[in-house]
Amino acid sequence: MTEAGERALPLPAASDQDAGVTAAKPSLPPLPVLWRRVPAGRVLAFAPHPDDEVAGPGGVLAMHAAQGDAVRVVVATDGTSGDPDGRHAPGAFAALRRRESQEGLRLLGVHDVRFWGFPDGHVLSETDLQNAAALAARELAEHRPDVVYLPWEHDGHPDHHRLHVIVTRALAAAGFRGLALGYEVWNAMVPDVIVETTAVFAQKQAAMLTHQSQIAYTQYDHCLGGLSAYRSLVHLRGRGYGEAFRRVSGALPAALAEAT
Ligand SMILES: [Zn+2]
Repeated sequence: MTEAGERALPLPAASDQDAGVTAAKPSLPPLPVLWRRVPAGRVLAFAPHPDDEVAGPGGVLAMHAAQGDAVRVVVATDGTSGDPDGRHAPGAFAALRRRESQEGLRLLGVHDVRFWGFPDGHVLSETDLQNAAALAARELAEHRPDVVYLPWEHDGHPDHHRLHVIVTRALAAAGFRGLALGYEVWNAMVPDVIVETTAVFAQKQAAMLTHQSQIAYTQYDHCLGGLSAYRSLVHLRGRGYGEAFRRVSGALPAALAEAT
């Protein structure tokens, strides 16, 4: 209905409408499976910046740690782009972000974290990508994970995208035969798996809050907490929390899938 005095918007020509309809051929995405547990095994999680390890897979890392899995986190960049107003002394800021990451992971029960210290926001050459992929392959060879977490392919932030490329190259080069799952931070995905994280959500939020240097700029706890709540929509009737993942390689363990 159009209010009196307002002019109706002109409708597009019939030919435009036809073009829109015929151009769109959407396929129905499969329903994601629901896991209330995570697969047992050795775990290696790659994070682009200090805080993504919490923001993305923080809940599932806490679940892995709680069931006794050997969890290692690799943080690729030094996070020094996370202070755009220059509130911190440049020399001390990378160390602060490392401490925040260590403290956040401690709250998730994870004590094994490595920092590559790559410059934040750096545009990588092909040689840089090759060197970084070799470094990631070395991490795979050393830790021998059964499950790998990495940013999903369209997470969108340039550093997240670069790390997706680096880790997938390393997985291919290493002939990785385990399960690799992409996690979401910057862009929400169409998931293959929803993991219920209700029991560990408070831990994840507490871990997010250790990243005060970042919360001071953006309320990541609010945004990512909202994303976890949203992930309860499909299977959990909007109650509790979840984290979403896309399969990058390997088979999803059928025994974990719950009938919903
Ligand atoms: Zn990030």
